[in-house]
Amino acid sequence: MRIFRTIMIMICSVALAVAAISAMASEERDLGREILATNDGWASFATGTTGGSLADPSQVYTVTNRQELIAALNNGVYPPPSSSPSNTPKIIYVGGTIDANVDDNNEPLACEDYYRDDYTLEAFLAAYDPAVWGRDEAPSGPLEDARIASRNAQQDRVRIRVGSNTTIVGLDKQVTIRGAWLDIRGSSTANRTNIIIRNITFEDTYDCFPAWDPTDGDLGAWNALYDSISLRNSDHVWIDHNTFLDRETADSTLPDYFGVLYQVHDGLLDITNASDFVTVSWNRFVNHDKVMLIGSSDGASADRGKLRVTLHHNLFENLGQRAARVRFGQVHIYNNYYQIGNASNYVYSWGVGIESAIYAENNFFWVNPSTGITPDQFIERLNGTAIHESGTLLNAPSQSGHQAIDVLAAYNAVNDPDLSGAVGWAPTLFLEIEDTQDVLPAVQSGAGPFNWD
Ligand code: CA
Ligand code: CA
Repeated sequence: MRIFRTIMIMICSVALAVAAISAMASEERDLGREILATNDGWASFATGTTGGSLADPSQVYTVTNRQELIAALNNGVYPPPSSSPSNTPKIIYVGGTIDANVDDNNEPLACEDYYRDDYTLEAFLAAYDPAVWGRDEAPSGPLEDARIASRNAQQDRVRIRVGSNTTIVGLDKQVTIRGAWLDIRGSSTANRTNIIIRNITFEDTYDCFPAWDPTDGDLGAWNALYDSISLRNSDHVWIDHNTFLDRETADSTLPDYFGVLYQVHDGLLDITNASDFVTVSWNRFVNHDKVMLIGSSDGASADRGKLRVTLHHNLFENLGQRAARVRFGQVHIYNNYYQIGNASNYVYSWGVGIESAIYAENNFFWVNPSTGITPDQFIERLNGTAIHESGTLLNAPSQSGHQAIDVLAAYNAVNDPDLSGAVGWAPTLFLEIEDTQDVLPAVQSGAGPFNWD
């Protein structure tokens, strides 16, 4: 009896010690000081990506509203100076919900609050209705000018510029940035570099003033600005454990005008203009049309040899297209989970653009059988010639276990010209590549803010 009690006491004290050590470890984990692991995708190339981890204590901020966030990005100064933003190493911890569509008193601004020069949506729709304006040319005149002035008023609020050597990290699982466009933009002579963004939900980035182009497609189109995050002339960027989604402004809530969807969204995470060395890991991309543009134009010759991006362990759920759409870049897409539940908005997942070299391995696709979507539709050829694809699994609800599929062969069987499987490179910068059958549970439990595995 006494021996039993002694053993129990020993077990209990070991358990307590283990609990104490793990509590200490989680208390000591400072996300602001964390850096990208060695070999974790293209952002680990050469110098690696350390963000603002070396920030001086005077450059460590906690922010809970738009003004504080912008000040933190500009050496504590608001409104930001014209030299905006700061490249000094900085750590920005984000708490609560930050809404970008607010005034300097943090009072919410509705679309109507941005109206300038007699713009109203009703007046705009009346002026450029194809029955009145026709379909041959883009809108022009006072109401189009008023739309642009109004758009600029909103852009002034929602555009948040991020400099080099910056870490932005959410403090808890609920942290949300609404309506913002994180504009990470260098120039052709001076990149932005070394940026980490983690553990934040980016929600409802929307343009109150989409442009009408009656010549875009057969029916015309509404084209919006603002990605939740855009990278231009930027390198060594790590985007990790975030969620990107539309909720209040989801496409399903938007009206049709002139017979087409009044689209108020652009991309979720666009990587363009000779950006390079980017790792996008463990994020959730949900409920959106155009997800991720890697390279914005076939004529952007400065992109050649750049746009190297790694996508791993991301959830791509109920999306339309561009997960990702690639031009020029060597893009490693491994261990991602594609969930396709809805046929009405699905276009494709992997866009094979000009001179692109996607290397896709061990990705899992779950397709709702009622959609009738088949694996050949996962790929769209957009002036590209090749994609490497291996280890893909598809759900097979009517059978036991998942089904190994050859997406490239499926594409080539129903399309001409065929795509080649030879992309001219093989990835060397990656962590463990998991068996595809493990991807669904790993991403379901591990992707998104604070879902550490
Ligand atoms: Ca964009
Ligand atoms: Ca063929």
